[in-house]
Amino acid sequence: MQHMTMEDMTWVELETAIAKGSRTAILAVASIEQHGPALPLNTDAILGRGLASALAEELGDALVAPVVYPGCSDHHLAWPGTLSVTAEVLGEVVGGVVSCLSKAGFTEIILFPSHGGNFDPLRGALPEIRAMAADAEIVDLLDFRAVLDAWFGVLDRHGYGDRTPPHADIIETSMMMCLAPDTVRSERLERGFVGNPELGDLTGRGLDAFTENGVLGDPRGASPELGRDLLEAWVDYAAGEIRWRRAERPGRDSL
Ligand SMILES: [Zn+2]
Repeated sequence: MQHMTMEDMTWVELETAIAKGSRTAILAVASIEQHGPALPLNTDAILGRGLASALAEELGDALVAPVVYPGCSDHHLAWPGTLSVTAEVLGEVVGGVVSCLSKAGFTEIILFPSHGGNFDPLRGALPEIRAMAADAEIVDLLDFRAVLDAWFGVLDRHGYGDRTPPHADIIETSMMMCLAPDTVRSERLERGFVGNPELGDLTGRGLDAFTENGVLGDPRGASPELGRDLLEAWVDYAAGEIRWRRAERPGRDSL
């Protein structure tokens, strides 16, 4: 498909694509927040767009919606550049976006966070988001554990045993090396906090209670090859989940 990214299309092209059967929109909800000394503030937005594009390619009948940000990043506010909104505001923004996508003719919206701090707020707002989507089906990919399991499985295969919740670590850095290599300050890759804290503890106390440089895990050893495997593992997980939900849904042919 020539144009898969909605914001780069004209309304005429978009209308034509929807009329020809591209009825699925993929919506990433990202953040603008510190990502350690080596990655830019828009890391989660680049990852969100990259993951959504790879998924659109895999599905074949989907378009990439504009990435939503900022997200819920209060736990990163100790570092400059982080912009954060409340869970209520994020829910309202996402609700407004899905409402417009539904009116444009999309009948299925795949909703996923490309930032860990957005999982709980989006889960909490899901009933309102579904209501705003009207007739469009929301396929929510809001199981953070499932995403982490897919990525940790790749780390295992590559011989990395670390299970620190990922932030500006080997996982995010490798995917950035694959998607936007020029943005990675390779000479600034530094180890951060390594351990296995509760996810709720990280968001509740803030990352500055654990790490000075803003990094969780160790990005050293990151590579574009590892990044490609991580992207593929996420697409496998997401596409599997979507196909399963499509098969369960009455009146829709499974792929
Ligand atoms: Zn991130």
